[in-house]
Amino acid sequence: MFNKILVANRGEIALRIMRACRELGIEVVAVYSEADRDSLHVAYADEAYCIGPPPPRESYLNIERIVDVAEKCGAEAIHPGYGFLAENPAFARACREAGLEFIGPTPESMELMENKVATKRLVARAGVPVIPGPLEPVKDADEAVEVAEGLGYPVLLKAALGGGGRGLRIAWSSDEVRHLFESASREAETAFGSSEIYVEKYVRRPRHIEVQLLADKHGHVIHLGERECSIQRRYQKVLEEAPSPVVDEETRELIGRWAIRAARAVGYVNAGTVEFIRDRDGNFYFMEINKRIQVEHLVTEMVTGVDIVKAQIRIAAGEELWLGQEDVVLRGHAINCRICAEDPYNEFAPCPGTVEEFRLPGGPGVRIDTALYPGYTIPIYYDSLIAKLATWGSDRREAIARMRNALDELVITGVKTTIPLHKAIMLDGDFIAGRLHTEFLDEKLPGLLKVAREVEGELELVAAIASIIASRRLGRKPISLPRRRPQPTRSAWRLMALAGVGPGGWGFWPIGTTT
Ligand code: ADP
Ligand code: ADP
Ligand code: MG
Repeated sequence: MFNKILVANRGEIALRIMRACRELGIEVVAVYSEADRDSLHVAYADEAYCIGPPPPRESYLNIERIVDVAEKCGAEAIHPGYGFLAENPAFARACREAGLEFIGPTPESMELMENKVATKRLVARAGVPVIPGPLEPVKDADEAVEVAEGLGYPVLLKAALGGGGRGLRIAWSSDEVRHLFESASREAETAFGSSEIYVEKYVRRPRHIEVQLLADKHGHVIHLGERECSIQRRYQKVLEEAPSPVVDEETRELIGRWAIRAARAVGYVNAGTVEFIRDRDGNFYFMEINKRIQVEHLVTEMVTGVDIVKAQIRIAAGEELWLGQEDVVLRGHAINCRICAEDPYNEFAPCPGTVEEFRLPGGPGVRIDTALYPGYTIPIYYDSLIAKLATWGSDRREAIARMRNALDELVITGVKTTIPLHKAIMLDGDFIAGRLHTEFLDEKLPGLLKVAREVEGELELVAAIASIIASRRLGRKPISLPRRRPQPTRSAWRLMALAGVGPGGWGFWPIGTTT
């Protein structure tokens, strides 16, 4: 096992990784930009080194600098987290050349997987169903139109090196394909360093369902079940859960097998995720492989009891998988809400700033992964994800009920956050019934934001009443509290109606849960 690991990341994921290292008795080294001097990951680490100015290019993406720090401080391995250098084959190679273990796949297999359409080709050849579309990039706009006509509209133009929900364009006609192809390839060139574009059939109202894998260096690959990530905005995940409400044991076995086959096709080692699209008829198609620890890995941890980050480290250290497929047993249900410093009422504009009040939720089955603290100033340079709030329940219903509580208990002031949106989703009838698809948020956003305003309004009033009572109680003149609990200012019925949950009130759960 390693004695010292450098974590080449920041924020909640850096802390998450450092916790795993501590548990394994490994010393941890933080690197940080000038904007992150006061960050929790810096305080948490055993050693910390500044690697440059705030812009990622000059710090968290600076391969030479990071490798240099690792060599000088005597680290034996580097954990890249997600984002930044996590899926960069050049970084994995630089680590190897410096005699450092990169905690992730090998440079060779990362080079194979760098290009999404090349990966798709390998996976298709291995006999896994893939989303309809050519297994090669398209050369020019004419070819894109020809392919689109063959597939039928709508189609999706994808940047071969794209990621993080970027580099995707939906086209509904040949004119649009022609027009979008030019802008998409130009943008892909600047954003990802390659103008390569490939075309896929755009599947309407699908579900995004992905399979978590663990693959050791000795040829063993197992899956840890699936996650449902259909609640998205602009192709980016907003909320995830495990297991998927529509995946039964037989389907899990099937997509698990496909995911393992895909991993073997690219020589995958370490923790990874195979993403699938499920159409409305229940067919699954391979979409892509994520070669990193994922933001939403915690829901899988909660239902399997497997610590995926510790598994990554043990695998990188050369351990043989200590679990067989039959040892993976799913228990209960987990949901994760991505809390971002964004204004949901203003097009989700990022809202960096200083956190004033920060109160954490608690109770059974509640987990929060965050690097926030009161007084912390969220820098403008990085991702807006500030906390992941996850709840576990013995079933989906209990997980949702706990999430409602936890979202109410979680208080973050000083910056705007997406908490109100999550509260509204937790009240939504279709969400509760498990009727999910990737266009869910796009279609429902105006209604959800209306509910969000109502809920926030009510909570503010309740909070105001509570604070008046508290101040009176603390004051010299004690007041007698009313014997009856104060009535809610807005009836729960009205909220339920707004949320579309239907009659029955808070205890009502629509029966006949379908897709
Ligand atoms: P997950 O699939 O684990 O949910 P995301 O797709 O949200 O992860 O990506 C995780 C993080 O990595 C996000 O901060 C995202 O912006 C970033 N990211 C992923 N791929 C890229 C990429 N190719 N370029 C830039 N950022 C990326
Ligand atoms: P990224 O690398 O940015 O994560 P993906 O290829 O995984 O890109 O696609 C991101 C999201 O876009 C998916 O989660 C899904 O919601 C949507 N998407 C991707 N491909 C398709 C498709 N062919 N049809 C419908 N939706 C798609
Ligand atoms: Mg993806």
